[in-house]
Amino acid sequence: IKDAARKAVEEGTMGQLHVLFFPFMAHGHMIPTLDMAKLFALRGVKPTIITTALNAPIFTKTIDRIKNLGIEISLIVIRFPALEAGLPEGCENADQVHSEEMISKFFKATGMLQEQLEHVLRETRPDCLVADMFFPWATDVAAKFNIPRLIFHGTSFFALCASETIRLYEPQKSVSSDSEHFILPRFPHEIKLTRMQLAGHDREHGDTYLSKVFIQVKESELTSYGVIVNSFYELEPAYADHYRMVLGRKAWHIGPLSLCNREVEDKGQRGKEAAIDKHDCLTWLDSKKPDSVLYVCFGSMPNFTDAQLYEIAKGLEASGQQFIWVVRRGEKEEEENEKWQPEGFEERMKGKGLIIRGWAPQVLVLDHEAVGGFVTHCGWNSVLEGVSAGLPMVTWPLFAEQFYNEKLVTEILKIGLSIGAHEWTRKATDGIEREAIEKAAKQIMVGEEAEEMRSRARAFKDTARKAVEEGGSSYTDLNTLIEELNSYRH
Ligand code: UDP
Repeated sequence: IKDAARKAVEEGTMGQLHVLFFPFMAHGHMIPTLDMAKLFALRGVKPTIITTALNAPIFTKTIDRIKNLGIEISLIVIRFPALEAGLPEGCENADQVHSEEMISKFFKATGMLQEQLEHVLRETRPDCLVADMFFPWATDVAAKFNIPRLIFHGTSFFALCASETIRLYEPQKSVSSDSEHFILPRFPHEIKLTRMQLAGHDREHGDTYLSKVFIQVKESELTSYGVIVNSFYELEPAYADHYRMVLGRKAWHIGPLSLCNREVEDKGQRGKEAAIDKHDCLTWLDSKKPDSVLYVCFGSMPNFTDAQLYEIAKGLEASGQQFIWVVRRGEKEEEENEKWQPEGFEERMKGKGLIIRGWAPQVLVLDHEAVGGFVTHCGWNSVLEGVSAGLPMVTWPLFAEQFYNEKLVTEILKIGLSIGAHEWTRKATDGIEREAIEKAAKQIMVGEEAEEMRSRARAFKDTARKAVEEGGSSYTDLNTLIEELNSYRH
């Protein structure tokens, strides 16, 4: 069947493969999905993305721009049932929800999208559905139309293996306190964690709505057709193998997805509109020496207190390093006061530190040769973008699966050092003192250890680029996936 499908595609007798992408409404999920759709389009697949009205602008600008380059992506807009789920009107993105209660409601709202998804499938009749991990019910919807459902988690093989190992063996139950270490059993490396570093649903498989969703997420990995992973084999071979061969998942690695953005326009326009003109940002960086600027950013959903932001400012200043710092205030984003800023800080830092209030053109910044280090919350997109730019990192995990990614960066890849965050929390976070920030900023930018980490990170940068080029591991795995989808259709 496979050969017949390949032949039909080559002869052009089979028509275009149509893949429908349905990302979760959060930037860390929508940004890589758009990259993925672009990548599929570049391989001759017809991609369609489904999203909701208020999230549509995240896609439309890029879709319109790349249309001129001959890359066609369609967008279908559905209605987000915010009010029905008890959310305020206009709440359609995970970066707008801050309390546990609102998060549960947000998930309930996404659970109500089932009928609309069915309608879209009935109308468009795609050949495959790539739906976010947070939509475990999408597997059943796809089955009604007899098409394969692929899952997109948007995280590392390492994190996928760690969370499944915790679900299977519950090593967290073998310790008597939240701060005592336990080891992940039957894992490729010895990885120590504490209960404090785990999400609530991983600590205890309780009875809450969210806990149930997370169990369904894991179960749907087994009932769906397979998993698409934004990673490359050479980065985490032991975990790519473990996930497939020991945990028995069918998976394709096709990343780093962000590498499909090669031009300034592509790199500078991902997610929201940047709060700084990209050319101003590049001019500022152009005036700096190679590897002399530290980039500090905590992803799309940071929720720091003003007191913590104050400590970061103090630590950065004391470190004497040049920096770009993306300051976001979570719930306080709209407040005009600048309580987080030490007196005269921005003035004193003029020329030395650039503060971006809001959204940064992250990939553009990371790829600039002046940037020599990255303080990251370990969201997987950020980690992979840092790896693709060849940067050593200071790891400061907050929530989600970020504590797992920290372990990969610091203990397996050895391209980063930990700031010392020890508790998983989605609430406004604080607790890291200026001394730790000062020390880490210096340690990652200058000295022998920094150079060693930087040279290891540079090697990964080269391998990442090779992986997505013709003949590379990710390039080949995407080919295999497309071929398989073609034969399924056949
Ligand atoms: N990002 C960006 N500018 C910002 C903050 C984030 O471009 O100011 C992008 C970043 O490049 C990454 C994504 O948003 O692609 C964030 O995803 P990640 O997995 O790192 O973290 P999350 O936001 O999901 O916690």
